[in-house]
Amino acid sequence: MKQAIKAAARLHGWTIHKRFLSRTPYWPEDRRREYIERHLKATLVRAYEGTRHYREAFDAIGFDPRVDFRGPEDLARLPILTKDQVRANADALIDRRFLRFSIEASTSGTTGEPMKMRLNEAYVAFDTGCIFRHWSWAGYRWRDRMVALRSYVPQSDREPLWRYDRAQNTLFFSAYHLSPETCERYIEEILKFQPLYIRAYPSSVTVLAEYAYPVREKFHALRGIFTSSETLLPTERETIERTFGKKVFNWYGMTEPVMVITECEAHEGMHINWEYGFPEFLPSDDLPEGEYRLVATSFHNPVMPFIRYETGDVVRLPDEDRPCSCGRNMPLVETVVGRKDECIITPDGRRLPSVNFYTLFRKYEEILRFQLVQYGRAEVVAKIAPRAGVTGLEAIRSRVAEELRARMGPGVALEVEVTDRFVTNRDGKTPPILRRPGTRAVEEREAYRISTQQAWAAARRGEEAHKLDWNEADRVPSPRVREALHRLIDSDPYLCWYPEASTPEAEERIAAYAGVPVEHVLLVHGSDAGLDLIAAALVREGDRVLIVTPTYDNFRAVVEQRGASTSFFEYVGKGEFPVDALVERIGREAPRVVYLTNPNNPIGYVLDGPDLERILRRCEEVGAVLVVDEAYYEFCGKTIADRATAFSTLLVARTFSKAFGLAGLRLGYLVGSRPVLDALRRVHNPKSVTMLAKAAAVASLEDEESLRRYLEEVRVAKARLYAFLEGRGIEAYPSEANFVLIRWDDAAGLIEALAARNILVRDRTAYFHGAGHVRITVNGLAGVDAVIEAMGAYLDARAEASGALHTRG
Ligand code: PMP
Repeated sequence: MKQAIKAAARLHGWTIHKRFLSRTPYWPEDRRREYIERHLKATLVRAYEGTRHYREAFDAIGFDPRVDFRGPEDLARLPILTKDQVRANADALIDRRFLRFSIEASTSGTTGEPMKMRLNEAYVAFDTGCIFRHWSWAGYRWRDRMVALRSYVPQSDREPLWRYDRAQNTLFFSAYHLSPETCERYIEEILKFQPLYIRAYPSSVTVLAEYAYPVREKFHALRGIFTSSETLLPTERETIERTFGKKVFNWYGMTEPVMVITECEAHEGMHINWEYGFPEFLPSDDLPEGEYRLVATSFHNPVMPFIRYETGDVVRLPDEDRPCSCGRNMPLVETVVGRKDECIITPDGRRLPSVNFYTLFRKYEEILRFQLVQYGRAEVVAKIAPRAGVTGLEAIRSRVAEELRARMGPGVALEVEVTDRFVTNRDGKTPPILRRPGTRAVEEREAYRISTQQAWAAARRGEEAHKLDWNEADRVPSPRVREALHRLIDSDPYLCWYPEASTPEAEERIAAYAGVPVEHVLLVHGSDAGLDLIAAALVREGDRVLIVTPTYDNFRAVVEQRGASTSFFEYVGKGEFPVDALVERIGREAPRVVYLTNPNNPIGYVLDGPDLERILRRCEEVGAVLVVDEAYYEFCGKTIADRATAFSTLLVARTFSKAFGLAGLRLGYLVGSRPVLDALRRVHNPKSVTMLAKAAAVASLEDEESLRRYLEEVRVAKARLYAFLEGRGIEAYPSEANFVLIRWDDAAGLIEALAARNILVRDRTAYFHGAGHVRITVNGLAGVDAVIEAMGAYLDARAEASGALHTRG
């Protein structure tokens, strides 16, 4: 529907251009004025009669446009419409009489939340008519060959970076993928196509121009370049025109249906498209002389009228009202300066608009583009891309840093980065200033990614699934847990109270189970919450953290997001664990924290007591905290938790999510040396552990027999799985936990085949440098029997297929 309307609007727009918009610029002044007043009145009257928002707004000031309208001067009485109002109030702005043949559109959200709106087909056609008129100013005729470096983003890696559209006779390139590496291929394709015109974001065509400079004389067919959607900087214009030898025709417009301002072949400024809507230029204290906020009223979008809409953009008006030498009756704006909300906000609350930085960077001949990314308040990264072949970057970098520091003040942690990787939004636009709410580490470092939720989807469909991808149990082993939970749920007052901060019964039971005095234990909302606590209490920006890998990726994520730098000690399960090398590394790097998982996940090996003690001792010597994650302790029975009383920098993380089958209740605990655990307690909020979790833990620990039986079942199931794998000649790692890691080249194929039967296992290939590895949870006999049967079928089918291949060959 949307595509059909857009295609229709293209033809319709061409007609509007030919029959109407190519003539209106030559109308006499009284006819022009009459058109504006008639459309303005019609817009106000329609909005008053058809929308709740304007009915209420106009009634509130006693303005009935049907009788009170005298001329454009009336607008000053009406309220301004802001983006926030449109977002919050979209429904009240819709005129239902015009819903037919309207489409939904959305802003890209460069400077905030995306904003949704409705547009009439007639409006889209009118907008397209203005585009055609603008192009015609550069000589464009229907279906002239054009390259568009925009409006196309491949949806997957398999889709090409460029695509030809016959209806428009346009070769579309992905602006999103334009980089110095792809530039050469883009240029080659463009030269083959020999376009008469290029339309693009200023930032993209600038990069293209920079890299096309050596072959500039080959663009002889080109007649003009159309830029839009971003502020066009003077340096960008120079770079583009220097390479292509033709003029830039800049367009100012937006998704919101309010205003279009376009540059003609005289290049003396930009023309207000007065047929489109009515602009107002409002002064503002925070703008320099000659610059104004642009507020505009649309004429052609009755389904969602924008009246006195605050565009957020700033324009500079010429010193005197003079006509353009092109002879059109369309008033001139000197330039569109940029967005008012495109600014850096310093830690002391000053707003530094993007224009300040345009002037700063303009001085540097060597810099092709820049982008400032501000994180929170106090961190700014200035990205600068040098022109091709520029040397002496270090000196430029420090001069830029000095100048930026002088403007932003000493409270800003500034980094000037020489790069060609800029931050691009969904549409491929690269705004010169971006503000991100999170800290730099949170925004830039890779977050912990939760893996597939396929089992939940299957459960929701009412299908049975074997969830062998998360190392959970397949049941709650102890029936006493359900009884305890029922008791709690049935006793009403408890659920509406916060949990008791300290529950001696639970804490003492757990301490006894772990073999340490109760002061050495801290209950947490899942060991994940314990990992957060460790990072919050112990790790600060710039700290080094050492992680024995492959392991649980959350260790990395939580410390990197606090600004720590991580290094990895890799052991992929071949040969003996190199304890000496790890001890040496800890001594050399003196990290703040060392993380390891024992038994290891995903491989399944276990370090024994003496080895762990050597590691721990070296940690103590260098002041590192050793975190041993014993999530799978119950399956092997080996632990270092009891050493927490003898050492001062040990933390052991345990969980009720695995052997006890309580993953859904989120309960873990840390066993630790007093000094570190006390630091953690200062951060910990004791009411975060739910009473359901605590009650379930107590019930589980009271029922040793059920745990013992479940562990025995896992042991038998694991032996069965190993026997099967061995029988089939599949390489498997010895595991002391509730999972088995296997080596299998076509990991994705195996996982897909199993998933087709709702048996879910985990791809761990990424941890082994691309060598296929799959981890299978041993959650009980039923799961293992199911996986054995499905894998058997998969292997048989493969053998048959390759056998058939051989006989045929
Ligand atoms: N640590 C390790 C090593 C794990 O494998 C997992 C679960 N994948 C966790 C911690 C998370 O445990 P919890 O459910 O207690 O947050």
